Amino acid sequence: IVKMKGMNKYFGKLHVLKNIDLTVEQGEVVVIIGASGSGKSTLIRCVNGLEEFESGTLEVDNHPLAPRGGNQKNLAEIRKEVGMVFQQFNLFPHLTVKNNITLAPTRVKRTAQVVASATADRLLERVGIGSQADKYPSQLSGGQQQRVAIARALAMEPRLMLFDEPTSALDPEMIGEVLDVMRELAKEGMTMMVVTHEMGFAREVADRVIYIHEGQIVEEGKPDDVFDNPQNERTQAFLSRVL
Ligand code: ATP
Ligand code: MG
Repeated sequence: IVKMKGMNKYFGKLHVLKNIDLTVEQGEVVVIIGASGSGKSTLIRCVNGLEEFESGTLEVDNHPLAPRGGNQKNLAEIRKEVGMVFQQFNLFPHLTVKNNITLAPTRVKRTAQVVASATADRLLERVGIGSQADKYPSQLSGGQQQRVAIARALAMEPRLMLFDEPTSALDPEMIGEVLDVMRELAKEGMTMMVVTHEMGFAREVADRVIYIHEGQIVEEGKPDDVFDNPQNERTQAFLSRVL
């Protein structure tokens, strides 16, 4: 569902992504790990066009995204199919939980309000906060807010979900509840690209782990292989610091 070939991205003179070849199959869970500044966020932000790239090719669900300066006619379609959850929850503070979730479906997909509302109720149940629909984000814990953010993304019925360190801003006791929701999603067959420092989650849930170093994929494989028997010395050094 995602195909990157020879993709390069610069911020000015800084070469942030170097010749990235990466394919994600439907239903696959790919976890991306690497040191701070290695390009993990930039990589997944390219997938829904939040960042432009300079060269190479990128296709999402068979829609090509053009490099910088090209025709971005597929961008709106891709954004409809790709949900994203950030470290900071980015909920709309002036909208209730329910309205946070129904906004995009009613505006972008022209879903009827009653239908969107019923979907929101169902999704809130699914992420374990069915009773919080009429609250405002500031009235919820961080873990609850992040689960709203996940429900909001799911309301668009995405074919792919991107997660950029979804638990990094949470108090330790709330990390588990968010990882549980993500684990369930993975079990139900959602295609996911996840940047995380939660190595336990990566080992348990990922179909494939990708280690990125200074903008290059230097290692990828099944989680047990990457964690227990890393081939690249950069990966070994990184894992010895974080495991
Ligand atoms: P972290 O683990 O800290 O989130 P990361 O792996 O997600 O790091 P990126 O945010 O993708 O790293 O950043 C990769 C590189 O690009 C870094 O050197 C960063 O300073 C640089 N960078 C990121 N965003 C921008 C920007 N908008 N303008 C210029 N440089 C940027
Ligand atoms: Mg990042």
